[in-house]
Amino acid sequence: MTLLPLAQIRTCLNDTRPESLEQLARQAHQTTVQNFGRTISLYAPIYLSNYCSSHCAYCGFSRHHKIKRYKLTEPEMRREMEAVAEKGIENILLLTGESYTATPLAYLETAVRTAREFFSSITLEVHPMEEAEYRHLFFCGADGITLYQETYDLQRYQHLHTAGKKQDYHFRRRAPFYAAQAGMRTISLGVLLGLFDVAEDLFSLYQHLREMERTFPGVEYSLSFPRLQPVKGENFQAAYVDDITLIKIICLTRIAFPRVGINLSTRESARLRDHAIELGVTRLSAESSTVVGGYALDRSADTSPQFDIQDTRSVKQIIRRLKEKQFDPVLTDWRPIANETLRSDT
Ligand code: SF4
Repeated sequence: MTLLPLAQIRTCLNDTRPESLEQLARQAHQTTVQNFGRTISLYAPIYLSNYCSSHCAYCGFSRHHKIKRYKLTEPEMRREMEAVAEKGIENILLLTGESYTATPLAYLETAVRTAREFFSSITLEVHPMEEAEYRHLFFCGADGITLYQETYDLQRYQHLHTAGKKQDYHFRRRAPFYAAQAGMRTISLGVLLGLFDVAEDLFSLYQHLREMERTFPGVEYSLSFPRLQPVKGENFQAAYVDDITLIKIICLTRIAFPRVGINLSTRESARLRDHAIELGVTRLSAESSTVVGGYALDRSADTSPQFDIQDTRSVKQIIRRLKEKQFDPVLTDWRPIANETLRSDT
């Protein structure tokens, strides 16, 4: 399938006629139903650490910000995980800031091994790694990664990322290939909408995904489209992405990639998320905390969230709403075999 040309993406995003939006939405809805039925997967994030050795101008966890830093100990991870598992969540996203020293491979291994006791699927949103490191975590029980390029424009990227390992644009872009090579089952890519021209970033994201699909056709891919929020009063927006534009991006993506998952986090409102699942979104986070220790340890008083939550509904409320809208909430579609048993085959 040929890639959607940049000019066509731009035309679609700029088209303000209601009939165009209606037609786009209708096509996206049909494509979603054909490929996913009416199923929505649910997951939750657990923030393990807010230590970060990089500086991204748009992020509150940047090493330049004087915030309280904390990383969960192993017993604390366990308490957080227990609290999330009790809500019925089976797909977990483990997050850290990007510090190769505060949260090294051994720390991530402990987190993954602990999570394996509670969850059927474990995705990591942590610093990018080499293939051997991803493979190690895969054997410990991780089965997916999430890694956003933030913006694909090299110049803008260099302007926004001025300290730490995250400055290495090319390593970050290559890392999902290393993860796939290492055996990871799911890979999620994305851009932070608003950092650069939206049409160009979307086009480059699609190119990246298509390269990955060609190289590793067996991997399950998904895309995310978080919108930039101001940090500490500063705004780094190069483009404003309103609700209609976000909806168009979801529709376009669904039509361009009929079988690729689309995630939408709780940084978006309940109203928008309820609407977006009709048009292409297939995966929602639920009852999230973006604070380190935010579920069981109640550290919200002394550690800041990475971003503010808009959809504050509980897992139960989201499930009820999905059922009212004739969707099937999916808590797990995956049961792992012990990845350790594959080690002898490699
Ligand atoms: S976006 Fe990630 S790497 Fe950048 S400052 Fe925030 S936590 Fe660190």
